[in-house]
Amino acid sequence: MQPNVFTVRASSWGRLFDCAHAWEGTHILGMKKPAGMRALLGTAVHAGTAAYDLARLEGKPCTPDEAADVLVDELHNPAYEVDHAQDGLTLANAERIALTALVKYCADVAPQFTYIDVETKLDPLDIDCGRGMVVRLTGTMDRARVAETEGGIVIPDVKTGLRVIQDGQAVTQGRAPQTGTYQLMYEQTKKVRTVGSQIIALSTGATAATAVSPIFDARRVMVGDEGQPGLIEHAAAMFRTGLFPPNPSSVLCSPKYCARWATCLFR
Ligand code: SF4
Repeated sequence: MQPNVFTVRASSWGRLFDCAHAWEGTHILGMKKPAGMRALLGTAVHAGTAAYDLARLEGKPCTPDEAADVLVDELHNPAYEVDHAQDGLTLANAERIALTALVKYCADVAPQFTYIDVETKLDPLDIDCGRGMVVRLTGTMDRARVAETEGGIVIPDVKTGLRVIQDGQAVTQGRAPQTGTYQLMYEQTKKVRTVGSQIIALSTGATAATAVSPIFDARRVMVGDEGQPGLIEHAAAMFRTGLFPPNPSSVLCSPKYCARWATCLFR
């Protein structure tokens, strides 16, 4: 008998456990909505930082100015539909904020890391959950890096946004599903062991700030621990039953963020 395969992208795990009903709407039923200016701002910062890190990794000199060209190009030519009115942020302001975040990243954050991979392509990872059920992990690490540390290989993931830093600390709550998936997939692809994940937070608020979290074991959240099932097993239970519970208390439960809003019974 062919197994029943359910595919989950690394970047969508957070949403699956925030409001599974919304996740089902987007990833199974194909409901979409345009991104806002803040999402585009984040994409542009990521493109700039990745260009900078990739050039350094390949031993090519890259100045923040050159990385800024990549950032500006991404901001002005997005690869996806953007609702420019959604966040009350003009393109000019988005560009100013994004460039400030990029310069701070190049000056303050990048020198702290010894990257060994940037934008790594990962092989999908199939996890047999029994009873003919396979959860397939997919996704590219286009916002994460791989770094060598004294303790071993770590997956630092770059996060941008207004609330990525609180009390001067990079927020790690809710980040483990995505970075844990990267850890599992990187281990399978490269046949190495990772020791944890890390969050590099770049604030895109009025005051630019950066913060780097301590290393944490995100892999454990996915695979579970001594009698406690991990998120993969919880996800398999949802896929098996076909029941994706709603969460109207989610901070993302709004027409701005949820593609299922118009038809959702539970909001
Ligand atoms: S409207 Fe709210 S409860 Fe309904 S799917 Fe969207 S986020 Fe979930």
